[in-house]
Amino acid sequence: MAACPDPLAVLRKHWGFSSFRNCQQEVVDAVLQGADTLVVMATGGGKSLCYQVPPLVLGKPAVVVSPLISLMEDQVMALTAKGIPACFLGSAQLSAQVKEDAWRGKYQFVYITPELAAVSIERLRALKHSVGLALIAVDEAHCISEWGFDFRTEYRHLYKVREALPDVPFMALTATATPKVRDDIAANLRLKPDARKWVMSFERPNLHFSVQRKQGALAANFVALLAAAERGELEPTIVYTLTKREAAEIAAELGTKPGLWGQVAAYHSDLSVQQRRGVHQTFMNDDLTVVVATVAFGMGIDKGNVRHVYHYGAPASLEAYYQQAGRGGRDGMQSSCTLLWSAADAAKNAVIKSSDYASAEAATQRDTGSDAITAYIHTPGCRHRAMVEYFAPGSWQSARCRGGCDNCNASQSGGVIEKDLAAEARLLLAVVQRLREMGLGTAVQVLRGSRSQKMRPWMLDMAAPDGTKLHGVGAHLGESWWKALAGMLTGKGFIAVHTKAPPGQRAFVVVSCTDAGAAFLRSQQPLVLQLSGEMLQ
Ligand code: ADP
Ligand code: ZN
Repeated sequence: MAACPDPLAVLRKHWGFSSFRNCQQEVVDAVLQGADTLVVMATGGGKSLCYQVPPLVLGKPAVVVSPLISLMEDQVMALTAKGIPACFLGSAQLSAQVKEDAWRGKYQFVYITPELAAVSIERLRALKHSVGLALIAVDEAHCISEWGFDFRTEYRHLYKVREALPDVPFMALTATATPKVRDDIAANLRLKPDARKWVMSFERPNLHFSVQRKQGALAANFVALLAAAERGELEPTIVYTLTKREAAEIAAELGTKPGLWGQVAAYHSDLSVQQRRGVHQTFMNDDLTVVVATVAFGMGIDKGNVRHVYHYGAPASLEAYYQQAGRGGRDGMQSSCTLLWSAADAAKNAVIKSSDYASAEAATQRDTGSDAITAYIHTPGCRHRAMVEYFAPGSWQSARCRGGCDNCNASQSGGVIEKDLAAEARLLLAVVQRLREMGLGTAVQVLRGSRSQKMRPWMLDMAAPDGTKLHGVGAHLGESWWKALAGMLTGKGFIAVHTKAPPGQRAFVVVSCTDAGAAFLRSQQPLVLQLSGEMLQ
């Protein structure tokens, strides 16, 4: 294994790139000085080179720990194609010889799962003492944190590797980490107190973000996609769904539309490995344009020109949304990310989470950031800013939204209308409070004066403390108007949305009036809100 003292020369020789990007150069230098490092960089930012360059500079092997097998296989293939010896210890077909060779230091890069790493401490130590170890890189390091959206128990054992090899530089890498998760990573992996840390901006200026409420008819949700298909101008698109059934159904229905025939496929964990590989390959080769998938699709997808990412249903956390939406526009070109949501999404996520089989879908939906995604959906402000402020508080520096988002577009075109909706908000909160944990739909029906069979007599007689009759008091405003207002009140923390799952029954979503909501209800305060599109119609 030949050493090459100049990192830039390594970059040029093996990758053909003329310069380092982001913090790559600084990270490489820190490793060469023997420091521990923590790198937080958006997907597509160039994390791999941070750990791939130093071992080539030192001429010593490196061990890379990742939970994503297909990603490791891809990287091994890519390195091998460059003439750099690399292997993945974990595939069943691997010969005993390769394993032997790996532990003897014949490979420049040894990729390994966290499970295997934790039980290979003696061999790692032996490797270190025979030929040396340039570094141990822990990819997807947020998996170590229970605060993250993708916690994996195996990661909790990695500190043993660190303790066994105190003088080998450790590098933790992730694309998504809030300050809390970042602290957790450093503590759990026992990174040294003087570990160097980089948090790159989370801004993705080439992405356009927008949020829409789901419509009943499928076509109404995919207007732009269907129009492009009719014009023969389809571009690579991923549609994420919350469930396998939705992925299959939406793929089937979209596939019947003009210009989409033969261009759409579903992707989820019920398909055979061969079928999945087929979809992946044809999408990568641009022989297939639209993939409708669960989150099983995408781990390790390195397709630069994905132009549109739709979410049919809100993921359980903002981390998950950012990571999935972030698969759009990795080549830096303009791309769009559209989140189609409904209040029932939270219930679906709760069901996915509670299902006891450990599917890939369930594992990645585990979450703690559900309040953050709710706030993101209902924010009247810039969506880029909301995202950046969540992942790296205080780091938003742009004077304006560079990638564009629905909210900023509306305000730039003068489309913003602000109005004091305190009176309407109080009516809605009063009904929600009296209904005590029922669905939002029922509250809206009361306000709109419904006389359906679902209305109980007491709902018809409902009154506010001042005697105002509540049933029918909001009949002049539409159902979607009231639902939009409820969304804003949720964003303000006046209404809480949660799920109820009576034993043996399907989970459903209920709303309740929070303490803040009750305080507002009693007050005389105004409530100036920015009207959303649904309220202007
Ligand atoms: P991440 O792991 O952060 O998602 P990758 O390491 O896969 O990102 O890099 C994303 C893309 O950027 C890859 O196609 C990679 O070849 C390219 N890339 C990384 N660093 C550089 C660089 N210094 N110059 C040019 N391209 C780069
Ligand atoms: Zn914006």
